[in-house]
Amino acid sequence: MADPYSKLVTSSYGRQLAKRLGLPTPTPLRRYRPGDPVVSGPVLTGEAEGSRLGEAVSETLEAVHAEVHRRRDENTEYAALVFDATGIGDSLALGELHEFFGDTIRRVGRCARLIVLGTPPEEIDDPAERTAQRALEGFVRTAGKELKRGSTAQLVQVSRGGERAIDSTLRFLLSPKSAFVSGQVIRVGAAEAPPADGSLPLRDKVALVTGASRGIGAAIAETLARDGAHVVCLDVPSQGQDLAEVANRIGGSTLQLDITAENAPQRLIEHVEQRHEGLDIVVHNAGITRDKTIGRMSRDQWDAVLRVNLAAQERINTALLADSSPLRRGGRLVGVASISGIAGNVGQANYATSKAGVIGHVQALAPRAAERGVTINAVAPGFIETAMTAAVPLFVREAGRRMNSLSQGGLPIDVAETIAFYADPGSAGVNGNVVRVCGQSLLGA
Ligand code: NAD
Repeated sequence: MADPYSKLVTSSYGRQLAKRLGLPTPTPLRRYRPGDPVVSGPVLTGEAEGSRLGEAVSETLEAVHAEVHRRRDENTEYAALVFDATGIGDSLALGELHEFFGDTIRRVGRCARLIVLGTPPEEIDDPAERTAQRALEGFVRTAGKELKRGSTAQLVQVSRGGERAIDSTLRFLLSPKSAFVSGQVIRVGAAEAPPADGSLPLRDKVALVTGASRGIGAAIAETLARDGAHVVCLDVPSQGQDLAEVANRIGGSTLQLDITAENAPQRLIEHVEQRHEGLDIVVHNAGITRDKTIGRMSRDQWDAVLRVNLAAQERINTALLADSSPLRRGGRLVGVASISGIAGNVGQANYATSKAGVIGHVQALAPRAAERGVTINAVAPGFIETAMTAAVPLFVREAGRRMNSLSQGGLPIDVAETIAFYADPGSAGVNGNVVRVCGQSLLGA
């Protein structure tokens, strides 16, 4: 599903023209298809002296049948470069990054993956080590901007005690499922994570997705069903027909409900209790816009957006984290934020406030969720090709699409894959994170 500009510059004439004019030439991103390997070429690994994740990295690479190189081979084009930097204890040792990536970064193939592993800086007492670990972020974000041909770069910060919990994160970042995720920092805390179930990780799980009748919500429902979950597709009654079509397609069920209704949390819980033995995954995807600059925005426009995008999910999550809730241990709550909530956006004060609120809500509830063995995380999509963005005026739309390291818009499936990663039972240590699905957008960077 390439946009017209991407189609033009992937033709041989268009490519030459774009090159001559200095225009971006987006690489068609490789996306996951069931049955595909996690990583489709050789992986080069390295580690700074005294690092602690070598064994866990090897286990994952072995489990996904990767061809692992521990020494650089001049003639190999790598599908991924993985460097364990947890041993870097001061600023001079950061030179080890240059040592490993200096030559190898030019030897990666199309849609390659660069992954650096570190320690969350705020968990480190020693100032020199904390400084050096914080510094890794600048390196990774720059690598994401320098990499070409659809390749991505990420930093994974692993708590001490999280060594055994990084498998799902590594698999996600190595695979084409993270096609539109770049320049991100993902935290993995100490946790007991079950071994990966490659084909149906969400078997026997019950998921509920709000706003599931179309767009990103429909893609989330489809992806969670692909991974084995029964999906309860929720939307407002006026979307009933589209909603039923999505649910029928994926063997799920429907719940027609306006999430802003006074009794919405109770109705949602009653529905789950009557039809299922419990609930495992809840994705708060429903969202609306009512754009106007602050001075021209009515109080109704403000309230409508804050109610749907933020207050409704606060109320539902509070009910789901109460003692009597059907949300089972190992549960997953996911909020859909937006880069508008990180960078702000002209005409979207209500929307950006609500989406920044989603991020605040996820961070505020993460410790309480952890006490119940539940995680709560958010995705922050950038420019995603949907009906919402198709309605944006042409030039603004073109600018939105190109202003990221991959020079293209993402697809609903990219948001859905990131949510499926959070939902994976193996992601027990991934809590309180906000992953941007934006191709490393320049906005709010
Ligand atoms: P969309 O408008 O196509 O779909 C939103 C769905 O939410 C609709 O089906 C709608 O009926 C439902 N909904 C709205 N109010 C509801 C309510 N009160 N109760 C129940 N359902 C309700 O939007 P989309 O583009 O698919 O976006 C999905 C989410 O992603 C939204 O939260 C949006 O803010 C966010 N997002 C989208 C983009 C993008 O580029 N499209 C970027 C950043 C964030």
